[in-house]
Amino acid sequence: MIYMQLLDLIDQLKQEWLIEIEPLVTSSDVTNKLFASEMSSFYDLFACALKENQVAPVIPLLEQWCISLAEINTVNTNLSLSEFISQLFIITNNLIIHADKLRQSSEVINNLLLIEFNILIQIGILEKNIEINSLNAQMRQYRIDLEKLDKSKSDFISVAAHELKTPLTLIEGYAAMLHEVNETSRDPETIELLLSGMDQGSKRLKRIVDDMIDVSLIDNRLLTLNFQPVWINRLLLLLVEEFLPITYKRSQKIIYIDFPGSDELIFADAERIMQAFRNLILNSIKYTPDGGTITVSGRLLPGYLEITFADTGIGIAHEDQIRIFDKFHRIGNPSFHSSGNIKFKGGGPGLGLSITKGIIEAHGGTLWVDSDGCDEEKLPGSTFHILIPVRKVPPDEHVAKLFKPLFEE
Ligand code: ADP
Repeated sequence: MIYMQLLDLIDQLKQEWLIEIEPLVTSSDVTNKLFASEMSSFYDLFACALKENQVAPVIPLLEQWCISLAEINTVNTNLSLSEFISQLFIITNNLIIHADKLRQSSEVINNLLLIEFNILIQIGILEKNIEINSLNAQMRQYRIDLEKLDKSKSDFISVAAHELKTPLTLIEGYAAMLHEVNETSRDPETIELLLSGMDQGSKRLKRIVDDMIDVSLIDNRLLTLNFQPVWINRLLLLLVEEFLPITYKRSQKIIYIDFPGSDELIFADAERIMQAFRNLILNSIKYTPDGGTITVSGRLLPGYLEITFADTGIGIAHEDQIRIFDKFHRIGNPSFHSSGNIKFKGGGPGLGLSITKGIIEAHGGTLWVDSDGCDEEKLPGSTFHILIPVRKVPPDEHVAKLFKPLFEE
């Protein structure tokens, strides 16, 4: 009998309840957005749960709310559904207690509390399940990341083995020939030729090992920069000159177009910046067919110098334009190894761009590429952009003292 009174009362109180809970629902963006339009349904389902004396009718709606909240929670809030529903129940219970007819009935309140208590337990279970699911999804992602890492490690081992083996085989071959010549003709010209071959092989070996060391320094954030005053135009001109004989061999043109700001004296690590620029020019040469053009230029932006390396080469597919900056990432077959430094498409160990990016980022700059895709016939070309800060102030007192005379009028 008393229970029937409670159900009647619940039916009568709906409008009043909707008004009472409005401040709670609209108090946060999240509850307003997620639940406001569904409060009336919640009330009906709650009434239904009371009538049937079981929580099942409200569970699907609560489950839906839990899922929506979990999605939003990961982004910007930490609202828990059980907290929100507890507050709703406090409002509901106050409303019922203040309804005249039932003021004395603890039995009614007990019934109400029992259902509410069970609903809160169910919400707790739902929230935990969703948390477990999200942890499982995270674990799956970690596993995928680990597998990727493992793959990149084995790619590295196979690329490094190939890359190291080529010059080693070269050195081994020349050494064997040297033995032979030593035992036979001892012709000084042949000996000189073989020695220079060995020299080339060991230089190539050193370059690869140096790159590997640089990558590990960058990865472990141990790359130290030796800041000194630098004129970017001088570095670029030096490099263009350095590459002239190579581009000549490939019937390519390398052009430097001077730009405002390139003659500003800025603080940077000249050697590392040269290394970064050199990697980009070398790539432009490698991925541009004979007869193409490499243009080095730039512009002055507020606080930054932008330096561009544009080529008329094969270009880079849109889907590769971010990945090429990952270490050991090379487009195409990872088992393919370099056939030589400057040959058309003569790949390397896939470390150049990640080192370049590390150097530029250590300077507080950024690096990206622009290309209309990869096409060996149409040759859309690629343009690599570097932004480096126009650092006019010495990074520390030691550098300031060292280069003081340069800045004195
Ligand atoms: P690699 O030692 O293979 O040259 P990098 O890190 O320098 O390694 O470059 C990674 C990949 O990016 C290259 O294998 C190549 O596929 C692509 N790439 C780099 N520069 C260019 C460019 N200028 N034009 C076309 N592709 C390029």
